[in-house]
Amino acid sequence: MSIKEPYDVIIVGGGPAGLTAGLYCKRAALKTVLFEKGLIGGQIAISKEVENYPGLEGITGFDLAEKLVHHTESYDLTVIQEEVVAVNSESDFHSVRLANGDLLRTVALILAAGGSVRKLGVPGEAEYLGIGVSYCATCDGFFFRDKTVVVAGGGDTAVEEALFLSKITRKVYLVHRRNELRASKILQSRLLADPRIEVIWNTIITEIKGDGRSVDAVAIANTESGEKGALPAEGIFIFIGYSPNNQLIPPTVRTNEQGFVITDEKCETSVPGIFAIGDLRQKFANQIVVAASDGCIAALAAAHYVELQKARSQSS
Ligand code: NAP
Repeated sequence: MSIKEPYDVIIVGGGPAGLTAGLYCKRAALKTVLFEKGLIGGQIAISKEVENYPGLEGITGFDLAEKLVHHTESYDLTVIQEEVVAVNSESDFHSVRLANGDLLRTVALILAAGGSVRKLGVPGEAEYLGIGVSYCATCDGFFFRDKTVVVAGGGDTAVEEALFLSKITRKVYLVHRRNELRASKILQSRLLADPRIEVIWNTIITEIKGDGRSVDAVAIANTESGEKGALPAEGIFIFIGYSPNNQLIPPTVRTNEQGFVITDEKCETSVPGIFAIGDLRQKFANQIVVAASDGCIAALAAAHYVELQKARSQSS
């Protein structure tokens, strides 16, 4: 274990929020390091087309992630692929412990750990993971060419992925628990116009069935009539939202009942000098452009915080 010289800012998470924060921190000449345990670029690096990032019409998620990474490289942002296993909040400094045992101190800390896919929690979901159950159409859609699949969810992700799968598969059932989709109107109209997609309204999935080696049906129940049934399908793609990756959040940082971090307009948490950005933070819209905006705001606020802390320690 070693205690290194303090950083001005440590960023945890290398998605669009964290990378944008890194870019702005470097522009503010702050001594900054960003830690990412997985894929640099975050979730977007495995996303298909991104249609709504202003000025970059029709770019793929992978290309957008690459552009973001190149942009931070042009400012010499230090990005380290290492897992942060603990975060501590102290009065003058915050600290971060890495998986390799190193302890790093920092004046400001920007948490950008994002979220993880939410699970249905029904029988068969874990058993058939990778052999019929998937959380990524781009990764696994190919295995269901000319087959019938179920998509669970009614948000933008479920609808986008159902549209993607309808080009590969024979038929897509989109199962949604209400009679109204959460997805944007433009996606809804594309979905409803697609002849290969059938929307099953007011319905929940109760079990994923198969012979132990592959999926052959998805058991469903109508939320209004209680009627039970089954959809014949070889695969199920689950897109029912995200849960925040809040395992590192110190107990003094306030969260809402779903575990998303509550921040002020500067993306600062209830602990001074700790900022939360992107999908980790409670907010109205989880869009890439909003994550990037969070990164900018938190970095500018962190720069101000670091300046004040340094002035305070010099005068004391
Ligand atoms: P989301 O907007 O939170 O939607 C989750 C969907 O899953 C909702 O329809 C919800 O139903 C349903 N759901 C949640 N828990 C469920 C459960 N236990 N059983 C059955 N259904 C359940 O999540 P998302 O679609 O992943 O989108 C996340 C954010 O990313 C959103 O802000 C979205 O706009 C954004 N996004 C944008 C784009 C784009 O603009 N191109 C693409 C993807 C995602 P209810 O509606 O009944 O709550």
